[in-house]
Amino acid sequence: MTAPLGLVFFPAVDWMISETHPERQERLIYTYDQIVEEGLLDLAAIREYKPRVAGRRDIERTHIVVPDLNNIVTDAHLVSAGGTLTAADAVMKGEVKRAFALVRPPGHHAMRVAHGIRGFCTINIEAIMIDYLRKTYGAGRIAVVDTDVHHGDGTQEIFYHDPDTLFISFHQDGHTLYPGSGFMEEAGSPYAFGATINLPLLPETGDVGVHLLFDELIRPILDDFQPDILINSAGQDNHYTDMLASMQVTAQGYARLADKLKADIAVLEGGYSIEAALPYVNTGIVLAMAGLDYSRVLEPDRRDLRPEGKHTAARVAQLVSDGRALWSARGKLKAEKIAKAGSSWTRKKPIYYDTDGIREMQTETAFYCPKCPGYLTIDSSARGSYFGEQSAFIAVVWAASCPDCAKRAYDAVLRAKKQGGHDYFFVQDKAKDLLERI
Ligand SMILES: [Zn+2]
Ligand SMILES: [Zn+2]
Repeated sequence: MTAPLGLVFFPAVDWMISETHPERQERLIYTYDQIVEEGLLDLAAIREYKPRVAGRRDIERTHIVVPDLNNIVTDAHLVSAGGTLTAADAVMKGEVKRAFALVRPPGHHAMRVAHGIRGFCTINIEAIMIDYLRKTYGAGRIAVVDTDVHHGDGTQEIFYHDPDTLFISFHQDGHTLYPGSGFMEEAGSPYAFGATINLPLLPETGDVGVHLLFDELIRPILDDFQPDILINSAGQDNHYTDMLASMQVTAQGYARLADKLKADIAVLEGGYSIEAALPYVNTGIVLAMAGLDYSRVLEPDRRDLRPEGKHTAARVAQLVSDGRALWSARGKLKAEKIAKAGSSWTRKKPIYYDTDGIREMQTETAFYCPKCPGYLTIDSSARGSYFGEQSAFIAVVWAASCPDCAKRAYDAVLRAKKQGGHDYFFVQDKAKDLLERI
């Protein structure tokens, strides 16, 4: 019988950035205690799953780790990523209606090329799950709604060229919070223009603002896009007690949002208010996703909860208006941007790894083709990595790249290798489902 909710739990008790770091095992231990105390695991509506271990191929389908996976990816990361794959399998095989991967370490700041840890993230566990869903189940249109207080810049970056992955992120405005990005102008590369929707909210926005944004903008966009699979990057750091941010969302606000969103799979991201918020927010989301009554889930201490201001409501109204305009004009804008780009589109990206102090510079070029989605090249150099300065030249062959484009991608890497000037050379070949070292 199909259970309403599958729950995958992995607290990674042996992994932390440092003893006092906010991203630590207690984030999930308190939640688990609360879930057990409430008797949720005894309910027929909830089925618990043990996470599996993701394999090298699962990670390299999404990431190019420089110089190699073994250098920065630990067993804890492989189980955290594996937990999302377990959740995906449970849903796709019809064992459960929805699933929630309550796992850590988190992933949404990790980009395609990984030199180290940024924003507490090493590998992007949602992106790995999405690529797995495509490879294993042939999933077509996928939507991600990122409800973490920080912009999901890694997930955005990985799917920036993919028109079939709709990425919607609401977050505290990047002028006031890490990672400093996530503005509406970041709407996708020309080929995927409009498939990235960024909604930067002002600090102090709470349940009213977030729900208005969801009802008036996010829900209609999702209804229009009609994803085959809907994923929630479930960060809980919009909570009014979170010490890393300045928002005013409550456990009830989060639970009602999960109830409205009805994601097929939720994956835990941030949330650092270990005792005051996480047990309640997570319990509320679990109940909502399982179709159970969540109305009595309440934080014990509400002293820090403040009413929302006029300025936050004005920003929400602006985002709804601008977001509707962007969504309805995206076809026309996309055609204009492709025409303007011609045969290729390049962007230069400085990428800072705050956790590790690594500075990376990338030049990413998407090559377009009349017959297929083309291919991608990435010229990456990093300073301050575990191995000092290191650089890589990479080409990405998309699953639907034509044979000519696949050949051009390999040729570009061979040419770079012949020229010298880089330490490592890779082709991430999504058609062959292989990361090749050249
Ligand atoms: Zn966060
Ligand atoms: Zn082609």
